Amino acid sequence: MKPMSKTRTSQSHDSADLRQSLKAAGLQVTAQRLAVYKAVCTSPHALADEVCQVVREELGVISRQAVYDALNVMSECGIIRRIQPAGSAARYEHRVDNHHHLACRSCGSLIDIDCAVGKAPCLVAEDDHGYLIDEAEVTYWGYCPECQKSLADNK
Ligand SMILES: [Zn+2]
Ligand SMILES: [Zn+2]
Repeated sequence: MKPMSKTRTSQSHDSADLRQSLKAAGLQVTAQRLAVYKAVCTSPHALADEVCQVVREELGVISRQAVYDALNVMSECGIIRRIQPAGSAARYEHRVDNHHHLACRSCGSLIDIDCAVGKAPCLVAEDDHGYLIDEAEVTYWGYCPECQKSLADNK
């Protein structure tokens, strides 16, 4: 049997590491930012409101605005990534390398998928029109296995 390959998503979510990443990004480490960062790490592709809920469970009171601000500032310095599949609100994830997503049209589930071919950016534009390309945002749309099953059952 082939050993399971370790994916890059299995980085440590240790508070010390998270603190370190915030610092490295030039951000002041606050309990709120740390909690928001941790929430994004433990629930990848979460909506801002879901992050809010997770953070509230940990910190108790925190305003929505504080969570939104933390998400914004961390996305801006690139330690988390904001993704916005068509028709969905913004979602946040801690995996910031070039990767893509599989999205289910029916239930809205979203999972990570590695680059299609070769190194990032894996899509080579036919004509780059002189742009210096460093990222390709790809969402593969379809139906997840669960939804395929229930669609078939409902026939
Ligand atoms: Zn689905
Ligand atoms: Zn992702």
